[in-house]
Amino acid sequence: MEFPRTFSEAGALVRSGGATVAALTEAALAKAHATNDLNIYLEVFDASARAQAAAVDAKIKAGTAGPLAGCIVSIKDNLCYKDHRVGASSRILEGYTSIYSATVVERLLAADAVIIGRTNCDEFAMGSSNENSAYGLVRNPLDPAKVPGGSSGGAAASVAAGTCHVALGSDTGGSIRQPASFCGIVGFKPTYGRVSRYGLIAFASSFDQIGPLAHTVSDAEAVHRVIAGHDERDNTSSQRPLGAVHGPGPGSKLRIAYYRETVERPGLDPAIRDHVMAHLERLKAEGHAVEAIELPMLDHLVPTYYILATAEASSNLARFDGIRYGHRSKAAKGVDDTYRLSRSEGFGPEVKRRILLGTFVLSAGYYDAYYAQGQRVRRLIRDNTLQAFDRYDLVLTPTCPTTAFGHGEIKDPVAMYLQDIFTVQANLAGVPAISLPTGTHPNGLPFGIQLMAKPLADEWLLEACDGLFQA
Ligand code: GLN
Repeated sequence: MEFPRTFSEAGALVRSGGATVAALTEAALAKAHATNDLNIYLEVFDASARAQAAAVDAKIKAGTAGPLAGCIVSIKDNLCYKDHRVGASSRILEGYTSIYSATVVERLLAADAVIIGRTNCDEFAMGSSNENSAYGLVRNPLDPAKVPGGSSGGAAASVAAGTCHVALGSDTGGSIRQPASFCGIVGFKPTYGRVSRYGLIAFASSFDQIGPLAHTVSDAEAVHRVIAGHDERDNTSSQRPLGAVHGPGPGSKLRIAYYRETVERPGLDPAIRDHVMAHLERLKAEGHAVEAIELPMLDHLVPTYYILATAEASSNLARFDGIRYGHRSKAAKGVDDTYRLSRSEGFGPEVKRRILLGTFVLSAGYYDAYYAQGQRVRRLIRDNTLQAFDRYDLVLTPTCPTTAFGHGEIKDPVAMYLQDIFTVQANLAGVPAISLPTGTHPNGLPFGIQLMAKPLADEWLLEACDGLFQA
């Protein structure tokens, strides 16, 4: 059968008896294997996907199927799935099999989604191009010479290549939204605390959030509604019910702000700038109030993010020591050697760079100058970001300064870090943010527009942008 592009179509099909979940799953598995040259999947879960599909078909017959029956999902290789391998695309976790499932995985399965495989990503979710994986780079399905973005590059590519309806990724500084922009799909980072992080291999715990990538906002929303909500196993998980925080009702005219500094930034591709400005004009013409506001701290966002995120990463990654699980060096002779060699052999260059940076900013002599100062700046960024939502319903920015670049094209790590200039703010402030595939560059590649809303207005944001941007 032809694999339906969206869950909206597939869900309707299986409910009306037009197709079985088993047939959908076979079509998805066949596509996942057929796109092997893009290196999207580290592993396709043929057996468990088939078993789940059969169970869902039985539930459809019995009239007891859950809301995601017919939805084919991929999961990023940093989400734990009981009895399945998981490795954050790192050698240090080579051969590790998870003994439990992440809350999001449990909820997907309970809602009758089928999980077809784990997707390649940057090692420990550190990167913007998916070139930092221990298992090789991922190719952008729209142009295999280009990167898919990162760190959820495999996730974005799995959707763009039509192997599944929705991918779960994680976003610490833009890793859902930037690859969504590069692959021409929707990517949503929820409010910090809206989706449980239980079972997510941590990168920077005060920034990480799990979220969906999909072809349409409504598909992303369907999965978001299943995975979001309180979880007692994550003590940063919000107890507020879904939908409790919202903006104006459907059809209302909205107050939309954009940051002057983002559109005036010299590094922003002129075609992306023109597209954003034209969009703002269109919104104005439709009767929404559109105003420019200031973001004087734009240049401080990336440095602040990289100080705090690397500090948290160096602490989170201390557990990978060659003793408790994962790679242990065969050359090691004593305890010190085991730590040193296992970590030297197990981690890739970008992860090592971040562990060194993070250890430096946390070290006794530099803690106050970097880490503590970074925390203060983060508070100012958060306050400034939240202030905008006193007066506006939405804040709009470009998602990324450019379209997808070529493999090996960005060699300087700092230039790579600047990929995140528009996306890290939402993680520093903890607000929800979505990238919508609204543009096509004269070079033929897609790019996105980003919308942010106030904390916990996630479901409202999804509904609002569905109305605003999808014809
Ligand atoms: N590109 C950013 C980084 O390398 C963001 C990564 C992410 O969101 N996981 O840290």
